[in-house]
Amino acid sequence: MAGLYIHIPFCKQRCLYCDFFSTTLLSRREEYILSLLKEIEERQNEAGEAIRTVYIGGGTPSTMPIECVEAILRKIKSNDVTEYTFELNPGDATEDYLSRLRRAGVNRLSIGVQSFQDDLLHLIGRRHNARQAKEAVRMAQKAGFDDISIDLMYALPTQTMDQWKADIRTALSLHVQHLSSYGLMYEEGTVMTRMRDQGAITETDEETENAMYDYLCARLEEAGWTHYEVSNFALPGYEALHNSSYWDGTPYIGVGAGAHSYIGRVRSWNPADLEAYIRGMEDGSLVRESETLTDRDLYNERIMLGLRTNKGIPLSDVNVRNGHEMVTKMTVKDQLLRITEDGRLVATQKGLHVLNRIIEDLMI
Ligand code: SF4
Repeated sequence: MAGLYIHIPFCKQRCLYCDFFSTTLLSRREEYILSLLKEIEERQNEAGEAIRTVYIGGGTPSTMPIECVEAILRKIKSNDVTEYTFELNPGDATEDYLSRLRRAGVNRLSIGVQSFQDDLLHLIGRRHNARQAKEAVRMAQKAGFDDISIDLMYALPTQTMDQWKADIRTALSLHVQHLSSYGLMYEEGTVMTRMRDQGAITETDEETENAMYDYLCARLEEAGWTHYEVSNFALPGYEALHNSSYWDGTPYIGVGAGAHSYIGRVRSWNPADLEAYIRGMEDGSLVRESETLTDRDLYNERIMLGLRTNKGIPLSDVNVRNGHEMVTKMTVKDQLLRITEDGRLVATQKGLHVLNRIIEDLMI
């Protein structure tokens, strides 16, 4: 089974923290869709396995007219797809758009809420407000969506613990099934990083960020949710299949500007350049860069991706020099990892705070 990722790079405005590949050149949407449809047509069988999950992400897919989304979905020929996810900006939600999405086959929504606090949404440059976010969830439920994920951000400048607790309370009160939550990252070249460097905003300290994360994990666990990946939580049975396939090495085909694919040992990617993509697909000159993963790369990926999940990695997979000593130190002395009854290494709550460091230590 394989996954299909479809990238829609358009956004109506740029969020101040964003370093993803996206563009506000909405006038190029029609040409882009034509190229995208062509690429889906040409490449959907490339993995040699039936497509089981489809994820339309961005950018902001909901900047697309619904007719374009319908055309994309009609292009996908697999009868084995069980999960169609679509990323929605709350500011784009209308009853008509959502019902048509549902009728076109989308059965999972990922809504970019980020916060239920208007001041924070404004500060990070989002174009929707808290009322629209709640309304988007309500409209989606009315349109028949019963698998809804929302994104929430923490460690935002000026965000208090009380605001964060209120956001989690609101999220739970909305009866959604899935939550993805990320601490704000100050990526190089973004407006927020510039603001921080100029002293206009203050970065949240590590202790507060960890406390926010711990509160989130504890509160959701208490509410019966599964913490199945470092940043992802779900009610039982609602873990995202598409995302899980990234973590367990399932092949995926990525179409659209900047999209990555992973088939066999080969990772390839389209140019993250709107015009080069449109032109390249139009005249057949598109050049995809690629790399073949070595045994070492594959080992490192397994460590990196596996330790992010609640399944962890088999203890026997650890292949680093002094592996036994290192694992003993991390499990017994530092309590960053634990060994499950079936012999797997899983990060503890303490370990999740320093996961990148653990991963680095276990990579070769
Ligand atoms: S909507 Fe998403 S992709 Fe677009 S600018 Fe904001 S964070 Fe970036």
